Amino acid sequence: MAEKSIYHDLKQRIRELEKENALLKLELDERELITKTLHDNEQQLYALITCVPGAVYRFRIDPEWTLEFISDEISSISGFPASVFLFNSVRSLRSIIHPDDIQKVEKFIRDSINKIEPFEVEYRIIDAKGRTRWFSEKGRAVFSNEGLPMWLDGTIFDITERKVSENELLRANQELMRIASIDSLTQIANRRHFIEYLDREWRRMTREKNMLSLILCDIDFFKLYNDHYGHQAGDICLVRVAKTIEAEVNRPADLVARFGGEEFIIILPNTDIDGAAHIAEQVRMAVYNKSIIHEYSEIAPHVSLSLGVAGMIPTPNSNSDHLIKAADDALYKAKRGGRNQVSVNHCLLA
Ligand code: GH3
Ligand code: MG
Ligand code: MG
Repeated sequence: MAEKSIYHDLKQRIRELEKENALLKLELDERELITKTLHDNEQQLYALITCVPGAVYRFRIDPEWTLEFISDEISSISGFPASVFLFNSVRSLRSIIHPDDIQKVEKFIRDSINKIEPFEVEYRIIDAKGRTRWFSEKGRAVFSNEGLPMWLDGTIFDITERKVSENELLRANQELMRIASIDSLTQIANRRHFIEYLDREWRRMTREKNMLSLILCDIDFFKLYNDHYGHQAGDICLVRVAKTIEAEVNRPADLVARFGGEEFIIILPNTDIDGAAHIAEQVRMAVYNKSIIHEYSEIAPHVSLSLGVAGMIPTPNSNSDHLIKAADDALYKAKRGGRNQVSVNHCLLA
């Protein structure tokens, strides 16, 4: 009887163990499947990361900005293998940023973490060969459930070629702007630039309530010079006169421009009429003392200038055309007065 009962218990225990075994096997199969899926996902993610034409990274947000992951692409864009940056083992990514750009990059990242917004920043790095390259970095912080910033995830792209083209375009544009505002013969400002500049200075002097003066210069008997020495010699003479006038005008805000054929104009912001008259006389003497032979001039053996000076404090209701006209009237007076002289028009002065 007792034997039968023991046998029964044992059978029961075996059945229970078999059940447990089956459950354990199920659990093991399930775990194996999960591990395999995780592994497959990781492989897939890695394959995807290697397809990204930039470096993908994850930083720990700690005082050292420890780099937990960086894809191999970093080696083709920086020249340093990824392993040197991993866990900042040999160097940090920060250490290859151009010293002038470090502050900018750090500010972008700090602001992005504080505002919980993604960031995008362009900066220079020094690559393994010591060359400067341009990187564009996009990233965002990853926060814990408690809202603490944990990681910085992002991508880094090499944009050197784009930057080089942009800079070349910028330089070409600047050169075009320069050419568009320069007189091709004399290489001083042309009339277009004069008009733009006068407009700007006119508004500035209106705001500052300061005087703006103009000097209009005209070469005496220049038609006779051309007629006798030829147009080419006339051109050379114009270049010499332009250079001489420019050398007499020194303040950064002053501008000398070619106003027309053999006429030049000088803008003198923050200069009263006596100061302008003084400069006009210096210009007249400088050109005359160049002693450019002009045997056919009716008033002197050398090329000479007649100059008209006018000045005023611009007001919101006044117009710069009136000032040009006043300088032109003064020039006409200098011509009638015998040429090779300065005439000052005081009629616009309050
Ligand atoms: P005035 O003393 O009254 O100013 O007499 P002028 O002969 O200088 O004046 P006018 O206006 O009669 O002649 C200006 C001359 O300037 C006409 C032209 O032969 C010359 N000229 C104008 N532009 C150029 C230029 O670009 N090159 C050359 N070589 N000559 C020019
Ligand atoms: Mg003239
Ligand atoms: Mg003339």
